[in-house]
Amino acid sequence: MHRRLCTTTGLLAGLFAIAACGPDSTTVSPDKGSAAPEQLGGIALELDEARMFAAIEHLAADALHGRYSLAVADLGAAADYITAEYNKVGLKPVGESFRTPFTIESGWEPGPDVQVWVEIGEEVIEFSADKIGSLANGNGDVVFGDATFVGAKTPKSVNGAIAIAHVAGDTGVTGLRARANELEKAGARAIVLIAPSLATTDDRIDAAVPVVVMAESDAVRWMPKGRKAVGKKIPGLKISLAAKQLPVQHPSFNLLAWIPGTDKPDEIVILGAHFDHIGTNEFGHACSRVDDDTTCNGADDNASGSAMVLEIARTLAESGYQPRRTLVFAHFAGEELGLLGSKALADEPPDAAPFTTGKVVAMINLDMVGRYREDAGLQVGAVSSSDQWRELVEAAGPQGLRLVFERSVTARSDHANFYSKKIPVLFFFTGLHDDYHRVGDHAEKINREGMAAIARIVGHLTTAVGNGARLDWSEPRSADEGAVSRLPASDAKTIEQP
Ligand SMILES: [Zn+2]
Repeated sequence: MHRRLCTTTGLLAGLFAIAACGPDSTTVSPDKGSAAPEQLGGIALELDEARMFAAIEHLAADALHGRYSLAVADLGAAADYITAEYNKVGLKPVGESFRTPFTIESGWEPGPDVQVWVEIGEEVIEFSADKIGSLANGNGDVVFGDATFVGAKTPKSVNGAIAIAHVAGDTGVTGLRARANELEKAGARAIVLIAPSLATTDDRIDAAVPVVVMAESDAVRWMPKGRKAVGKKIPGLKISLAAKQLPVQHPSFNLLAWIPGTDKPDEIVILGAHFDHIGTNEFGHACSRVDDDTTCNGADDNASGSAMVLEIARTLAESGYQPRRTLVFAHFAGEELGLLGSKALADEPPDAAPFTTGKVVAMINLDMVGRYREDAGLQVGAVSSSDQWRELVEAAGPQGLRLVFERSVTARSDHANFYSKKIPVLFFFTGLHDDYHRVGDHAEKINREGMAAIARIVGHLTTAVGNGARLDWSEPRSADEGAVSRLPASDAKTIEQP
């Protein structure tokens, strides 16, 4: 589950609203008689629950350090485990490898055009990217003109000049940012910070004008000395400055396995879940340590969904199941960084079968399916994306669970990238909890019985759709049915009546 940019209080308030909805008016009650597997997939679906939980324990182990997408070894270890399991049951990769590459852009680095030219009379001294730290782009254009030396103290106004400032104190990004912000406020149209040494940093600072840092040793020849020069235009000196930065490109990958369809091979049904998480407390602010625990294990988010996709795929492969439509089992990376892996698959499917000729006709997404609680229910989101979804889910369930059907489509997990392409999507979710994006999201807290029941529902649903069940796209008929930033079951208005 991708964290929305809002406060925890807001999310918890949303949860509270679910509890306040009351089971009678808003939900489907458990019903002992579930449909027989024969009616659904035409196969007896014998899921190996122990094997599914073993997969959660493996993926959520401390050794995988919370599966952060930019931690190549950790994500790779998770991927190696999943693909080894696919190999054991003879499932085929999409393309030559289970890994379908895509690129994650995160952080910034100087582009090839970062340059500063200092003109002293006739002479031009050129400083290229290795001599400059670029902290803010401005609008990307080259800035050219006279420069004013402001020394170590920022004056009230620099009247739209290019400001050359001496930074003596804190030359970490905090100090540089503070100085740049002062100078921007004073009206500088570009800022050159001269620091004792070149601060190489991939940090960017918030400034609307270009900001660069240079080392004192590179500035001794042309930076004025003495108090008299402070606050004045530097005579005979002009500066050109281009500070353009580029996002840093990190190679990443999704994992894709598939079973070809028999008579509708070009109709692709994706069963997907993200397998990345937010890592350890080393990776920015997202995961904070509690006592000695520094790892956000992500057992529910989303080892649970990954293990469920894997288990359904393995069971179908072992049974020799031949769906009429093509089934693709997808494990997405980059979800926690902004649904990036699923976006890559939705926008640019790989140039390999079945995607070369096939089209995605449905996407079922599992994100946090391991903490089933009766009060929150099994939340089935995005049912409005096809008029047939609800009936298909009811035929597969409820397997003793309380189902909550949600019409709106939350934009906070991977199905959103397929929904925006007008593909019927469905989202299974057991709700937020106190361990969400925290170090306590451990495997032993998974509700195994609940998860086994969800796996049966999703397994039967997948075979029903795989067998060619009718599934038409439905345009949103009201604001309640389109994409929203909130989670399922957080607004009583959009929960379907039983
Ligand atoms: Zn998450």
